[in-house]
Amino acid sequence: MKKVIVIGGGLAGLSCSCSLIESGAEVILLEASPKLGGRAYSFIDENTGDIIDNGQHIMMGCYENTIEFLNQIDAAEQLLIQDELRVPFVMNDGSIHFLSSSNNRYPINLLRSIIKFTALSIKERIRVLDLFLDLLCFEEEDLIDLTVKEWLLNESQDENSIKILWEVLAIGTLNSKIEEASAGVFVNVLKRIFLGGQEASKIMLPINGLSEMYVAPAAEFIRRRGGTIVVSERVTGVTFESDEVVRIDTNKNSYTEFDFVVSTIPLHALSKIESIEKILNLQLNQIKYSPILSINIWLSKNEFTESFYALVDSDIHWLFNHGSYISLVTSAAEGLINLTDEEIMRKTISQLSNNFCVFSPDLILSYKILKEKRATYIPSSESIICRNRITDSFGNFILAGDWTELMLPATIESAVLSGRKAAAKILEYNR
Ligand SMILES: Cc1cc2nc3c(=O)[nH]c(=O)nc-3n(C[C@H](O)[C@H](O)[C@H](O)COP(=O)(O)OP(=O)(O)OC[C@H]3O[C@@H](n4cnc5c(N)ncnc54)[C@H](O)[C@@H]3O)c2cc1C
Repeated sequence: MKKVIVIGGGLAGLSCSCSLIESGAEVILLEASPKLGGRAYSFIDENTGDIIDNGQHIMMGCYENTIEFLNQIDAAEQLLIQDELRVPFVMNDGSIHFLSSSNNRYPINLLRSIIKFTALSIKERIRVLDLFLDLLCFEEEDLIDLTVKEWLLNESQDENSIKILWEVLAIGTLNSKIEEASAGVFVNVLKRIFLGGQEASKIMLPINGLSEMYVAPAAEFIRRRGGTIVVSERVTGVTFESDEVVRIDTNKNSYTEFDFVVSTIPLHALSKIESIEKILNLQLNQIKYSPILSINIWLSKNEFTESFYALVDSDIHWLFNHGSYISLVTSAAEGLINLTDEEIMRKTISQLSNNFCVFSPDLILSYKILKEKRATYIPSSESIICRNRITDSFGNFILAGDWTELMLPATIESAVLSGRKAAAKILEYNR
């Protein structure tokens, strides 16, 4: 039986452990923090008693590995999947335009959704359509050195369609400004969403908190099959001998009995582990991170009619409607993250009052601001080149985590995919 130490209990570590254990491996998962879930978890808000996430997470039908993982741990029913694609775009004057499509006649239905997207002029819609029709002709690798903005301008997209449609799609999926993110990654994402089949473009939202949705079921899956999960134990050192890991040191223990080690921790955390930086030749100054700001607001009366809204040309990018409270999300939030709570709320209230007639500041009962300063890496061309230089395995030491998927943004899907790939690699190995 293969004995594996998995470092990190986020989505990559949990999905890796579940795949390994289901195939009969023996797993010890080591997590530094007292809780599992990494950058995607939920907790109880002490003011209201509601379970809230560390930031609203959106998934899409093209998250194939995530859906398989949730099915594996019996948690897929905790996802609310749209019947049909429907995204309300809210303009600064309060008008709403829908990007929506029926389920009939894929992929023509998606092209029709663009033709019917009234936020853009007819001429703009035709240019957008043209680019969608050309998507298959682009090779992601050829576009690495272009930013999303440069690519869109090269492809004759108007400033208005960039602001109203492309920017909303790019910031939402890449958590990065279009002037920074690589067009190669964006095109890969667009292909997965719009050319990945009928279900791929549908939005999926967790029905419950993230920890309830996947952390608890995954932990139970691992423990029930004899795996060990250790929290509050930080890996501090990794000892290599003749190209193999022979010892893992933590702040509490040392481990020498294992066949493989999988690291699923982010690059900035990996560089803090003694000896790793040298061995893996990490040069991390090219990796930049992007913050996400989330604001939960409890309302005395909620008359929002949609389950979520995309806000165009706004400091707030998304509004999610949870009934008793709303969650506002700003991606690539460099401009807001260092403001005080009072300043953030002033801006938020003014923006919401402008965009929604159903909102008034008098309705606010309480609010909670959550700042994730290093939410995701920026998938720029520099970051792709730098991450590409890092070997993905070193003897029996295998690297996983969202950042290891070069041509994907940092998402739940890239984390799960990387975890499952690391498990598959170990299971293939004859040792
Ligand atoms: C606010 C926010 C909103 C987001 N929204 C979305 C979204 O809408 N859709 C989407 O798909 N993705 C979203 N993401 C991205 C997604 O959450 C991440 O890509 C994913 O959770 C990364 O998982 P991971 O397992 O690769 O890394 P992590 O979740 O970072 O897990 C790594 C784990 O390793 C542990 N660790 C670190 N160092 C050590 C050590 N030395 N020893 C032991 N353990 C260690 C950490 O404590 C952590 O638990 C969002 C992220 C944030 C923060």
